[in-house]
Amino acid sequence: GGRAEAEGPSRDTAMLRHLLLKLRATGPVTVAEYMREALTNPGQGYYTRRGGIGESGDFVTSPEISQVFGELIGIWYISEWIATGKPKAFQLVELGPGRGTLTDDILRVFNQLASLLSKCDVSIHLVEVSPKLSETQALMLTGGKVQSNPEDKSAYMKGISKTGIPIFWYRDVQDVPPGYSFYLAHEFFDALPIHKFQRTEKGWREVLVDIDPEVPDQLRFVLSPSSTPATENFIQPEERRDHVEVCPEAGVIIQRLACRIEKDGGAALIADYGHDGTKTDTFRGFRNHKLHDVLSAPGTADLTADVDFSYLRKMTQGRTATLGPIKQREFLKNMGIDLRLQVLLQNSLDSAIHQQLLHSYDMLMNPEKMGDCFNFFALLPRHRLERPDKKRKPESKSALPPVAGFGELLVQ
Ligand code: SAH
Repeated sequence: GGRAEAEGPSRDTAMLRHLLLKLRATGPVTVAEYMREALTNPGQGYYTRRGGIGESGDFVTSPEISQVFGELIGIWYISEWIATGKPKAFQLVELGPGRGTLTDDILRVFNQLASLLSKCDVSIHLVEVSPKLSETQALMLTGGKVQSNPEDKSAYMKGISKTGIPIFWYRDVQDVPPGYSFYLAHEFFDALPIHKFQRTEKGWREVLVDIDPEVPDQLRFVLSPSSTPATENFIQPEERRDHVEVCPEAGVIIQRLACRIEKDGGAALIADYGHDGTKTDTFRGFRNHKLHDVLSAPGTADLTADVDFSYLRKMTQGRTATLGPIKQREFLKNMGIDLRLQVLLQNSLDSAIHQQLLHSYDMLMNPEKMGDCFNFFALLPRHRLERPDKKRKPESKSALPPVAGFGELLVQ
C-alpha cells in the first residue's frame, strides 16, 4: 500500500486534528464514537478515503484470496432457495461489499445456473457507506455504467451487472425494499463501532478515548470516572469477564434482519472472525498488513474488533433460528471445497496455476491461517429448522432438507 504515503503527510493528520479539536471542546469520547469517526467520517474516514482491501492495501479478505470462496457461498444461497420451494423472486443483499469481488463471484455462479434460475427474478442490493468503495464495486460489477440518484428507488445508485441483473446501492439496510431476501455480511460486523468496558473495584467503567496530557497531539485510553448509561445498559448482570466489548450497531442490524426474515423469508449468512461471548480485548488496527496502534494516525488504518456471535444470537430475539458459529474450514469443507479444488486442478496443466490454487486453499482452510479464526453464522426462518407439529409426528422432521454447510449438531 504505497497509496497513502503518496498522498502526503497532511492526510495522515487531518483526522487526528479533527479529533483533537473535538476532544478539547467536549472531553473524552467512547471507543465507539472514536471508531465511527476513524472509519466512516464522511470527510476523512478510513473506508471513505482509503478502504485498502486486497494485496496492495491494508488487509486481505477471503473473497480476495480465491474465487472458490464466493462460488461456494453462491451455491449456499441457491441451496436455500431450492429448499424453500424456489420462490419466484429473491434479492441478494450484501452489507459492506468492499471491492465487490464476493458478489461478482456469486453472480458468476447464478449465471452458470441460469437455466435453474430462469423463472426467478433476481436483484442485487448493496449496502455501502463509502463513496470510494461503491465506485470500485460499480466498476467491478457493471463495468462502471451506473446511474446516480435514480428517482424511482430509495437507492443512491443503480446499474446492471455484466450478466444482466439489476444492482442497487444504499447507505442503510433499512432502505432496501422488503421481500424474500438473502443477506450476506462478510467482514462487515467487525468494522462496526464497539463500546469497551472494564471491571474495576468500584464496578463497571466504560473505556474512553482522551488526549494524553503528557505527549502533545497523542491520544490515550482512560476510564469513565463513574458508570455511564452504556455500562448500565450493555453489561449483563451475570457477566464473568473483566473486560467486555459490545457492538450495539451490530445488534440493531441483526434485529432488522431477523424481523425481515421472519416476515418475508430468506436467510442471512454472516462470516467474520469472532467468538461466542468469551473473548475480552480484541480491538486492533491494520495498516499495510501489519498490526497498527489503534490510537495512532486515526483514519489511515482499518480498525476492527472480533464479532460476538452470542450477542448476535441474542439480538435475533428468537424471531429466527440461528446456526453456528462454525469454523470457516468446516463450513467450506461441508460446502464441497475439496471437490471444487480437484476440478479446478484438473482443468489446468499450468503449474503456476496449480500452485496458486493450492496456496489459496491453504490460506482459507489452514487452522493457523483463516480456517479456524473465521466463522460462519446463519439466520433462518424458524420453520426452516423446526416443524410446528414435530411433537405429534417426530418422524416428519426428516422431511426437512438439511441446511448446507452446517453440521446437524450445531442447530441452536
Ligand atoms: N466484504 C468485503 C469488505 C469488508 S471491509 C470483503 O470481505 O472483502 C468492510 C466493508 O463495510 C467496507 O466495504 C466498508 O466500506 C463497509 N462499511 C463499514 N461500515 C459500514 C456501515 N456502517 N454501513 C455500511 N457499510 C459499511
